[in-house]
Amino acid sequence: MPYDGELASKSAHSDFLRNPDIQSFLGQCEYLTPPSDAEAQALADNFVEPPAFTEKLPGFVVAIDGSNYESSIDDKLPSTKVGFIKIGAVLISLEKFGALRDGRYVDPFKVAALQDDNTALTFSVPSANIRWGGKTNVRDSFRAYMDMQFTGPNTRFNPADASTSLRSTLFHLASLRPGKMGTGEPSRLKLHQCPDCGAEEIELRDIPEQQRCPICGTDVYPTDCLRIWEEVNDFQSNQVAISRLMLMLEHLLPIHYMRYLAKTPLLLSEMAFFVDGPLAIFGNPAWMHRTIMIFLQEINRKLAKLKQPPLTIIGLQKTGQVVDHLMLIDRFIPANRLLAIDDEYRYKFILAGREPSSQGFGFETYYGQDFIFKTPSGRTFVFALPYPYASKDAAGVDFVSEKVKFQNYAQLQRALMLISHLESDLYENAVVPIALAHHYTAISFKPGGRVLDLLMKNALTP
Ligand SMILES: [Zn+2]
Repeated sequence: MPYDGELASKSAHSDFLRNPDIQSFLGQCEYLTPPSDAEAQALADNFVEPPAFTEKLPGFVVAIDGSNYESSIDDKLPSTKVGFIKIGAVLISLEKFGALRDGRYVDPFKVAALQDDNTALTFSVPSANIRWGGKTNVRDSFRAYMDMQFTGPNTRFNPADASTSLRSTLFHLASLRPGKMGTGEPSRLKLHQCPDCGAEEIELRDIPEQQRCPICGTDVYPTDCLRIWEEVNDFQSNQVAISRLMLMLEHLLPIHYMRYLAKTPLLLSEMAFFVDGPLAIFGNPAWMHRTIMIFLQEINRKLAKLKQPPLTIIGLQKTGQVVDHLMLIDRFIPANRLLAIDDEYRYKFILAGREPSSQGFGFETYYGQDFIFKTPSGRTFVFALPYPYASKDAAGVDFVSEKVKFQNYAQLQRALMLISHLESDLYENAVVPIALAHHYTAISFKPGGRVLDLLMKNALTP
């Protein structure tokens, strides 16, 4: 970061790179180098023709994307900061209801105009030098305020019913944790430790009352289980914690919708969800990726009983190492080709220099498989689909080899078809909700919004 009056220019950057000490340092570093043409051609040969499209498009697409910033509350107080997070969720109809009944009820897309412009779910958090709710430090203020918003009416599907809140969805997921941290009961979860005294495995209930550590008596919050608070500090920027919270919310929110929509499985099977980035959760809340796998398998079992296709969740990646890699080889890949990135390929050509994980890539973080798809018209996408298992170490499954088999992904054709269908919009804009808003009526899909109500009413009508 340059000091006041100092210019950070491109020439300064290349001056650095010409410096002999830096040249010598770079000479000792290991990093990915672009492949030769022959190597790139060999890599492109790993791509195969995808299965033909035999599915039909889903009726609806839900796209979720977050943004965040941390800001000083006043120019005169630059070290006093608050954080904001916006999670936008929009709904578009690809074929005005598809298989759903139409005509007898109000068309939600006509009702869209009744919604206000505020299409995002917003969260704010106290940051450097801000205290809230009588707390004596930023960390405790952050925890208290975050928990209040998770359970607040804005995140509820039914504002009068706390069990439809985002925090109840978190309870649901946390209760599914394998091993001693799980409770097996959606109304209970465990914190790995008390933030104050460090007492371990504190069990909390999904109730509105303030709960306390049974050892030290200090206030504890169900959302403490995400361990975002561990990265919050009093006097410096909390950008890391704020970004962590946003990234986690981008994955929790689709689950929140699915938990609610599971009441109308026919509607759920008509929806495809677009999430930004890989299907993975990094950092302290990474445990959640395991419970998302379990959750998705539960829902897919329900759908299968009704002879419905599995959930379609697509993690679309516009940046990152896979995308960097793709840029290097893209011109060698013919149109209409697909690759499921296996661990060998990834460690050799994408993460060169990184020690391969003994349990498989992304064992602690990923809940979905990365694919590279070049559409029949020649645009390339990096996307992910949820792993087709409830667990990576399920008995009798060689996960590392099974996760890259196309035939294990029942929603693969549908995803490829959807990406091809939306490709020009998706290609031009990195933010999927905005991309879709260019050519479709993209309407706000906040929890508690009337659009959701109308859709469910339509779906429930025989
Ligand atoms: Zn305690």
